[in-house]
Amino acid sequence: MPGAETVDVVIIGSGMGGATLAAGLAPAGARIVILERGQVLPDSPDARDARAIFQRGVYRPQETWIDGPGAPFNPGNYYYVGGNTKFYGAVLIRYRSEDFAPAELKEGATPGWPFPYEEMAPWYGRAEALYQVRGAVGDDPTEPAHSAPYPHPPVPDEPAIAEVRNRLKRVGLHPFSLPLGVDIEAWLNRAPTPWDAFPDTRSGKMDAETCGIKAALAHLNVELRVRAQAKRILLEPDGKRVRGVEYVQGGETRPLTAKLVAVCAGAVNSAVLMLQSREGGLANSSDAVGRHFMNHNASAVLAIDPRTINDSVYQKTLGLNDFYLDDGRGGRLGNVQLLGRVTGPILKANIASAPEWALNALSRRSVDWYAMSEDLPNPESRVTVDGGRIRLDWKRSNWGSHRELVSRLRERLKAAGYPIVLARAFDRRTPSHQCGTVRIGLDPTSAPLDPTCRAWDHPNLFVVDGSFLPTSAAVNPALTIAAQALRVADHIAKTDL
Ligand SMILES: Cc1cc2nc3c(=O)[nH]c(=O)nc-3n(C[C@H](O)[C@H](O)[C@H](O)COP(=O)(O)OP(=O)(O)OC[C@H]3O[C@@H](n4cnc5c(N)ncnc54)[C@H](O)[C@@H]3O)c2cc1C
Repeated sequence: MPGAETVDVVIIGSGMGGATLAAGLAPAGARIVILERGQVLPDSPDARDARAIFQRGVYRPQETWIDGPGAPFNPGNYYYVGGNTKFYGAVLIRYRSEDFAPAELKEGATPGWPFPYEEMAPWYGRAEALYQVRGAVGDDPTEPAHSAPYPHPPVPDEPAIAEVRNRLKRVGLHPFSLPLGVDIEAWLNRAPTPWDAFPDTRSGKMDAETCGIKAALAHLNVELRVRAQAKRILLEPDGKRVRGVEYVQGGETRPLTAKLVAVCAGAVNSAVLMLQSREGGLANSSDAVGRHFMNHNASAVLAIDPRTINDSVYQKTLGLNDFYLDDGRGGRLGNVQLLGRVTGPILKANIASAPEWALNALSRRSVDWYAMSEDLPNPESRVTVDGGRIRLDWKRSNWGSHRELVSRLRERLKAAGYPIVLARAFDRRTPSHQCGTVRIGLDPTSAPLDPTCRAWDHPNLFVVDGSFLPTSAAVNPALTIAAQALRVADHIAKTDL
């Protein structure tokens, strides 16, 4: 590309993977450019207005994907500096050590990772420091070994939630404080709302922009270009190494050559970019790019006690891993955690026909949970590009475990004094925990990336976002993405820069 601008590293995407990779690489001094298709999320009254966010969908992308049979849908996939973390619930939890090993689940096998938990543990610690995680080691019997306590004490339960914690303990459960990336005072100072699924306008959420990008941009060798969408990754003429990226900014197509390219566009868009960059897909000698799409089996579970008012604002401070590992009664079922407080306007977005006052009355008596079970890698569960449109043919797996999880949770919640328990599954419109589409593995014939996220086919190409996860486990993915990004950054700084 004669005349093209040249840098050391180009990172495509500023979400959890891209921002954390940039933060990890920045001290090495290499010239790094981050291309981000979105803009900096603007502050406005909408940012704390549940009707604007959930009913009018003001932050949702103007984008339509199609599902397997071709039905269109609008995905909850967010394009801003910081990516999906701008909206995340900021639960920053480690995979359990058992998640790194193969295991039989109710409806299939989970294959495990190419390395054990012990390899990842120090990077988890580094990621918890970068994202200033608030938590307590010790309440959760499934918690893997930590070499140090969390950087900050846990976000406190509100009084109504402290009472929920007591009720759960009384029925033999082991509620633990969710590890969270939230400065609760700063968040509530901006407005008394929950943070889960609310956008962070730099007011207390520890996300990829406020932690990862901020740390990276403290180094003068790092530059962030916004509204800059990568369209194609370019190969050298011999097809062995990548040469750079073609991106569009301000209506102009621009080339950027780089010694090293890191694709961090999120599990759906990274696969799309790689499939569109080359006939048959870039780095795709395994034919695995876009396959093994996973997204957790997840349900909202509302526990209603007509006699008790839940006056909490944010709610989201408790988790339960009592059903996570096999307790001899039902196999490995998954994790349960509180949702951000669900209010009438939020319920109304899902039940349009009900009056908001009635939903408010219901939600005041409800405690709102999120039940999550592992989705297993299936080569037929995949992202493809069909006539320029993104096709997400998600094939759910392990649904029996999820039903069992919801049923076991329902039974315990009833025992704890919630006579009405309502559950509703999340569907393909919520690809929040998307992962697996460009996975790591030891065998180049079944995985596009080696265990350091380097493409087996092209030594100067990395994919560092939810795509690399070989398993979804049954906990939130962001901390594991961040930990691996720091691990990969360290590896790149030692061997490539
Ligand atoms: C409502 C919600 C709640 C969640 N809660 C939690 C939680 O509590 N805990 C947790 O662990 N996880 C949570 N998640 C999931 C978490 O946000 C994701 O796992 C994480 O952000 C994934 O990181 P990533 O780097 O793969 O992708 P992202 O963070 O989505 O980043 C991808 C970035 O790439 C950009 N991009 C895409 N295509 C291009 C292109 N062609 N060129 C340039 N830029 C591009 C995007 O705009 C985006 O900024 C939640 C997600 C949502 C939506």
